[in-house]
Amino acid sequence: MGAFYCSVCRQTTFTGKGHIFGKSHQSRLRVVLLKFLEKVKEARRTLKKPEVEKFDPIKHNQTFWCYCCSCEIQRNVTDGNMTVLYGGLLEHMATADHRKNTHKFWWENKAHPKIRDKFIVAEEETEKFKAEVSKVLESFVEKEDDYIKEAADHIRAQEKHRQEVLQSLSEVCFPWKL
Ligand SMILES: [Zn+2]
Ligand SMILES: [Zn+2]
Repeated sequence: MGAFYCSVCRQTTFTGKGHIFGKSHQSRLRVVLLKFLEKVKEARRTLKKPEVEKFDPIKHNQTFWCYCCSCEIQRNVTDGNMTVLYGGLLEHMATADHRKNTHKFWWENKAHPKIRDKFIVAEEETEKFKAEVSKVLESFVEKEDDYIKEAADHIRAQEKHRQEVLQSLSEVCFPWKL
């Protein structure tokens, strides 16, 4: 038996694979997966109703640690203008690599098979998600257009008012000019 680094417990053990079956590993695994599942559930909640916000560099640059792939991924996706919350996470969980790594992780860690598929997003689900996202983005652009129109109307109204004020002022102050 050689040294074996356990990414769940974040330690090197010398009991080889036996470590996986031990109580401490299994309870740590349960905690890790529960926390992981909470985040995945939060993300899944937006599958049917995507959350789109104006990009905020402080709020939206969150990363997410995928235990199955042992890598850090972006939680959201953004084009620098708009952000789709959980877009990065959902996209990651639908990749073939993630699916493969999840199966491997479950096998290697002897995790509970019942919950495994909760950590995988089906391709059809992300397809639907993308369609919903574009709908939301469209309505966002429409709202923005309305806002710009309103702002323009406001500016025009102000300009008209200013002209009127100037006009009446010049009538009072410079009557000979008229
Ligand atoms: Zn362990
Ligand atoms: Zn992954």
